[in-house]
Amino acid sequence: MSEKIYPVAVIGGGSAGTMAVLRTVLNNDETLFFPGSPKDKKKSRAFWVAKVDNMPGHQKYRKGIEEPNKESLDWLAKSEFSSIFHWHKNRGIKKIEKRIDNIFVLTDNQDFVYLAQYVILCTGVMDVQPHIQGSMDPVFPYANAQSIDYCLRCDGHHTLGKNTAIIGNGDGAAWVAIMLKERYNNPSMAVISHNNEGSFSDDVKALMTKYDIKYLDDEILEINGDRKSGTFSSFTLKNHGDYKCEFAFVSMGMIVYNELALSLNAEVDKRGFITTNPQGMSSVENFYAAGDIRAGFKKQIYTAWDMAVDSADDINRKLRAGRR
Ligand SMILES: Cc1cc2nc3c(=O)[nH]c(=O)nc-3n(C[C@H](O)[C@H](O)[C@H](O)COP(=O)(O)OP(=O)(O)OC[C@H]3O[C@@H](n4cnc5c(N)ncnc54)[C@H](O)[C@@H]3O)c2cc1C
Repeated sequence: MSEKIYPVAVIGGGSAGTMAVLRTVLNNDETLFFPGSPKDKKKSRAFWVAKVDNMPGHQKYRKGIEEPNKESLDWLAKSEFSSIFHWHKNRGIKKIEKRIDNIFVLTDNQDFVYLAQYVILCTGVMDVQPHIQGSMDPVFPYANAQSIDYCLRCDGHHTLGKNTAIIGNGDGAAWVAIMLKERYNNPSMAVISHNNEGSFSDDVKALMTKYDIKYLDDEILEINGDRKSGTFSSFTLKNHGDYKCEFAFVSMGMIVYNELALSLNAEVDKRGFITTNPQGMSSVENFYAAGDIRAGFKKQIYTAWDMAVDSADDINRKLRAGRR
């Protein structure tokens, strides 16, 4: 273990982590950067995002988060700030502790140990996936092509003119259906419970009736389409048979990657998102959260960037004040 205490460590290399390290390094604060192991990356949202339509300048990228992030990180690694940018490629953090002198002790997935004064946690979330006949494999070709999708604000516009279904069973799923119907007047709209019994509030039920949104309390047995192109035409449902549908959103909840925060006893809300002050600091002093993992913000690239900048700048403010 090196005894050197680095000013900042950024954990996570998606939208928030990349913006966080860009900001801390450009603020001239020496930074350890752990973008995650290949396993961490594969279970991140950044990895699964293909075309990004709702961010200016992003349409040229096939992978709208990973490609521009890599461009910026490669540039930073060659810039005049390279000596203070410690990019630990393919490394994730598996353990974090806080010493009595307030220094964080981080252990990576290769058991290397590092010390840092401030930490920005950007480990993100993952959408709960539907299992079709016990496996997620049938979903992947369509999730890759984003004809089965997870983010209404990012990809809702793709449903224009398409028979659409939402896989989910609560008010959240029903609201996705209602909003899509109100925005794009889809030819048909359904909420499919996929075998988890539905429960909707009265207001939501009334809107579902108004917009002719079907509720199908049923299990998806098959997705009928072209796995190569990722286009599909129907679901085979256990009780209702073939259900015509060309686009689906999954709205089954989120897994929040908050284990490191919980191990420090950081406060989280009832869904597991980390609660913070306006600058992004959690209930644990000098431990910040940015991106999807932080409570109370839109789950988007541009919000992740803004949160990351707020945290990096607050840390820089404290570091500057400490040196005065
Ligand atoms: C299908 C889909 C499409 C989307 N499309 C859009 C869009 O068009 N526009 C838009 O604005 N938003 C879009 N989003 C939302 C966007 O992906 C997220 O808001 C954004 O990725 C959040 O960034 P993040 O950094 O918080 O998390 P992620 O981007 O999920 O990054 C998490 C990072 O943490 C790392 N990590 C995890 N555990 C560890 C660990 N223990 N140690 C170190 N690193 C770790 C991972 O490797 C990864 O680098 C979409 C989401 C999905 C699912």
